[in-house]
Amino acid sequence: MTEIRHNWTKEEILAIYNTPMMELLYQAASVHREHHDPNTVQVSTLLSIKTGGCPEDCGYCPQAARYHTDIEGNDLMSVRQVKAQALRAKSSGSSRVCMGAAWRNVKDGPEFDNVLEMVRTINKLDMEVCCTLGMVTENQAQRLAEAGLYAYNHNLDTSEDYYKDVISTRAFEDRLDTISNVRKTNVTVCSGGIIGMGEAVEDRAGMLVALATLDPQPESVPINALVAVPGTPMEDIEPISIWEMIRMVATTRIVMPQTQVRLSAGRTEMSREGQAMCFFAGANSIFAGDKLLTTPNPDVTEDMKMFEHLGLNPQKPFVKKAQPDTVEAADSQYEALGEKPKWTRPEHTIERNEAAKLAGKNS
Ligand code: SF4
Repeated sequence: MTEIRHNWTKEEILAIYNTPMMELLYQAASVHREHHDPNTVQVSTLLSIKTGGCPEDCGYCPQAARYHTDIEGNDLMSVRQVKAQALRAKSSGSSRVCMGAAWRNVKDGPEFDNVLEMVRTINKLDMEVCCTLGMVTENQAQRLAEAGLYAYNHNLDTSEDYYKDVISTRAFEDRLDTISNVRKTNVTVCSGGIIGMGEAVEDRAGMLVALATLDPQPESVPINALVAVPGTPMEDIEPISIWEMIRMVATTRIVMPQTQVRLSAGRTEMSREGQAMCFFAGANSIFAGDKLLTTPNPDVTEDMKMFEHLGLNPQKPFVKKAQPDTVEAADSQYEALGEKPKWTRPEHTIERNEAAKLAGKNS
């Protein structure tokens, strides 16, 4: 059995990334088979429970309030709406619902209380519940855990070096701090990033070093390809090739053998054959549904047809870890602390982010 290493170096990871393709595929597929059933793929549905109006300046994101994009914002959905969507997702083969809110960080109060109720509701439907709500304190992570959260997503996005060229409103360390807060609970960690944002291959390796040297490694690592949305600072970046995606998936699989590697944004640009190569290289999860928060995604029936062609089966919920219990709000052991944590605001200037903001003002 391939050993789980937490001491990967950038040079080692780069060497894997640059291995001749056939050899890379063989190595990755071999590691994959040692740790996973190669014919099973986990299917998650991503639900944007609060869209747009985000105060952050992530250069790839159409939900940042400062950029002028065509997305329609919405306030926090109701628990009833979320339950209806979760039931729909379950009936179309998803084992997990991931709820995303365009927040910088979680704030204690009625909106967070509603999210906790959404977590309780979906866990009671016997589905894995994941949230991506921005930065969280340890107390907030404990409250989510108590409600029955299965996973918390908080992407590193890219390498620590390149992070400063993508986001100026928070620092890379804040991401690691949130992951560490989640790790103090029994909630699993989902953290990955985006390729094709103009980063060097070294940055891709740098991001994988940051993830693979966590102990334990994240249970889930989403690999996104940039979807360049008009109005965002990265609108003009050309899409990456499928080969870069396959290399990234294969390298992720080799350095994090037990993790669930998720094919995330950018799948609409990939052929079925390209996706099949990614599954062969070790990807074993996808997001289903026609939208990934705000960007397009293949239709779920198309995905199920692809599964049929490839002989893939959707993974059942709670295969990797037992279902968490749900504690009702009235029995909670954790009070809302009303904390005002000092998450970093580095606020250096990123030229293309500033230009996108100004372009909006001048149009
Ligand atoms: S990626 Fe998240 S934090 Fe960044 S602007 Fe978009 S919604 Fe806000």
